Amino acid sequence: MPVEIAPGVFRIESRLGSRRLAQWLLRGSEGALLLDTGVAGTVTETVAPALRELGLAPEQVVEVIDSHADVDHYGGNAEARKLFGRARLRAHPLDRPLIESWETIAAERYGWYRARGLDYPAETWRWLEQAAGPDIPLDGVVEAGERIDLGGLAAEVMHLPGHSRGHLGLLLGDGTALIADAAMGRGFLNLAGELVSPPPYLDLAAYRATIERLRELSPARLETAHFAPLAGAEVGRFLARSARLVDDLEAAIDRALDDGPRTLKGLLPECAAAVGPYPEMEVELARSIGAHLEAALGE
Ligand SMILES: [Zn+2]
Repeated sequence: MPVEIAPGVFRIESRLGSRRLAQWLLRGSEGALLLDTGVAGTVTETVAPALRELGLAPEQVVEVIDSHADVDHYGGNAEARKLFGRARLRAHPLDRPLIESWETIAAERYGWYRARGLDYPAETWRWLEQAAGPDIPLDGVVEAGERIDLGGLAAEVMHLPGHSRGHLGLLLGDGTALIADAAMGRGFLNLAGELVSPPPYLDLAAYRATIERLRELSPARLETAHFAPLAGAEVGRFLARSARLVDDLEAAIDRALDDGPRTLKGLLPECAAAVGPYPEMEVELARSIGAHLEAALGE
């Protein structure tokens, strides 16, 4: 089940509804690091068996880092805390409060739509709360530029904001970049490769800058949480596609607003049709539309 994508770097993949979901395990001579804990259940059902397959004892995991505040990236924190008793559990300071409290993330991130006449269906809310797992405090924060040395394998922490304010990635010495959801193409694909859900970003300038930074970095391998591993020329194409979606959404919003003022709720179907369509979680495109409107208003 775990796939070695670079020396000592393993991709652990499972399914999340119609999509892929990945975590990464970095194995050094002094200890191992787990990047992301999935949803509630992922650590127990997917990560623990992967470790056994690799012949790694849970005590060897010394670092657990959450790439960002979304339930499919931190929901296994409570299980990780229990299984990896020695590990230090950390995230970026801007995302930490959301990761530590369901109430906070439900109000600030998932509840953002409610004030604007939009919302997830009740069934999605139930799923989100369950997937988030129990609230547990983190052990500390991790910030841009920190170098984590696992013995013969080191990772540099990158701050890659846009999708969330405190989104983190790891850059490895061999040119592999682990970026989770920091760039999202034209949206997320199902296992058949069909576009199913939109790419939500909450800070337009930051998301554009993150994509630009990754294009300049031009990593040999780009690992995202919900797309198949990318290497060589695919990396540039994926990042170009991510940048183009932002431009296309901007153009779609401009066209719609040419006809006069609109509410966010009014803009959503037209914009989704222009850059999608998105049969799942279409409402999340409203977050990105909101980011464009906030940028235009100078907020
Ligand atoms: Zn995700």
